[in-house]
Amino acid sequence: MFLAEQLLIPESLLKPLRSVPGFDEAAFLAAHQQVPVTSVRLHPLKGNAFRDEADDVVAWCSQGRYLPVRPVFTLDPAFHGGAYYVQEASSMFLDYLIRQLVPERNNLRVLDLCAAPGGKSTLLASLLEKDSLLVSNEVIRSRASILEENMARWGYMNAWVTSDDPAVLGKLSGYFDIIVVDAPCSGSGLFRKDPAALDEWSEANVELCCQRQKRIIADVWPSLKKGGIMVYATCSYSPEENEQILKWLAVTFSAENAGVDVPREWGITTVTLQEGQPAGYRFSPDKARGEGFFIAAVRKTTDTAVAKPAKFRHKEAHQAQERISNLLTGDAFTCIPTDGDAFSAMHTAHVPDYYLLKNSLYFRRAGLPAGHFAGNDWLPSHDLALSVDLAEHVPAIPVDRDTALRFLRKEDPGLSPLAKGWYRIVYEGIGLGWVKSLGNRYNNYLPKYWRIRMQAP
Ligand code: SAM
Repeated sequence: MFLAEQLLIPESLLKPLRSVPGFDEAAFLAAHQQVPVTSVRLHPLKGNAFRDEADDVVAWCSQGRYLPVRPVFTLDPAFHGGAYYVQEASSMFLDYLIRQLVPERNNLRVLDLCAAPGGKSTLLASLLEKDSLLVSNEVIRSRASILEENMARWGYMNAWVTSDDPAVLGKLSGYFDIIVVDAPCSGSGLFRKDPAALDEWSEANVELCCQRQKRIIADVWPSLKKGGIMVYATCSYSPEENEQILKWLAVTFSAENAGVDVPREWGITTVTLQEGQPAGYRFSPDKARGEGFFIAAVRKTTDTAVAKPAKFRHKEAHQAQERISNLLTGDAFTCIPTDGDAFSAMHTAHVPDYYLLKNSLYFRRAGLPAGHFAGNDWLPSHDLALSVDLAEHVPAIPVDRDTALRFLRKEDPGLSPLAKGWYRIVYEGIGLGWVKSLGNRYNNYLPKYWRIRMQAP
């Protein structure tokens, strides 16, 4: 299918691409007149959407699916419950890269530095074991809110959200095993999805982005431990933002390329900087099924002091711990008082991390916000309804699509009367939020800012 309007790719973008090995200008230009592909990545633990055998799987990510048409995601309750994340297919290659480079993903400390809206972070959360910790950071506070919302939807206790400058994170010397820098870039790889981005593209902006990318990497580099891996990615075609950043990393920080082998039939171009050694991966829509993308991994080789654990005195929160124990599966978590009278649950192994990070970072979410006391009642948080750790015995009301949509519009869902108490609204096995039955009616506890405004056509 062709785009409604022809995309005119600037000559100044094409010129440096002509010296990129494997670049096929005619095929590249022709692919840029086609509509972009739609794809989603499935939550491994939630629901059955797009799991038919006939569904079209993304070659480099077993949870990735191509969709033949773009549905109205806003009107699918499963989307709101975090059953899948709408993500561009090429960028799902992070899944393959990390699986190949880090086969054991226990007890890791992972930073997603430029994380909003959360595509790479939800992918990483699904890849890591429960005792690993993911810090998803977004410096721009207005964008951190959507990141926080998407991480709540994904429902993992070990996925925390911060909003700090890379230099602040860089002070955590040698703390992280893996850092993902999905850098702000000139965006040429997404022209098909967002033709308006063409108007903002310029050589001057590429240069500006390249300087900013170096600054971001240099600021955060001290927090990567020796032997740790930095993944660097952009959605730009420009070598200045890709291959040249890798060369700069090698020269400035003695970083070693950490490449992996990739099946030829995937259509991904492997970039080599030294004879025969894979260094990075280019995605171009004329070759691989996805949008323009670049990704590479490097390993830190230099000695780095490791930040000492913070001294802390943890105050036991017995009452809250008891309440939350009845709501969650497993017992390897500790309850921490957060804002005011609210409590979060976190993997017990992460309590020292909490006190260390709390000293320097601005938390948007640490652990799973679980709720707060209101007199003798426990008010469960919205995050708890979306959590993958919620116990099965928690009372639930299974609903159909129309009822789910009424709930998600924060209207009266029109449920039959049930005994007084809290109930989780569940659509196709996926938690959407809470209602409280007062016996003769229900209160809808969906947070106001989660409310959908779209009506069914
Ligand atoms: N990783 C995200 C995902 O997969 O959904 C996309 C990240 S987007 C390519 C780059 C992000 O970097 C944006 O959210 C942007 O706000 C953030 N950013 C912009 N300037 C930055 C800076 N100076 N330092 C760190 N992050 C920055």
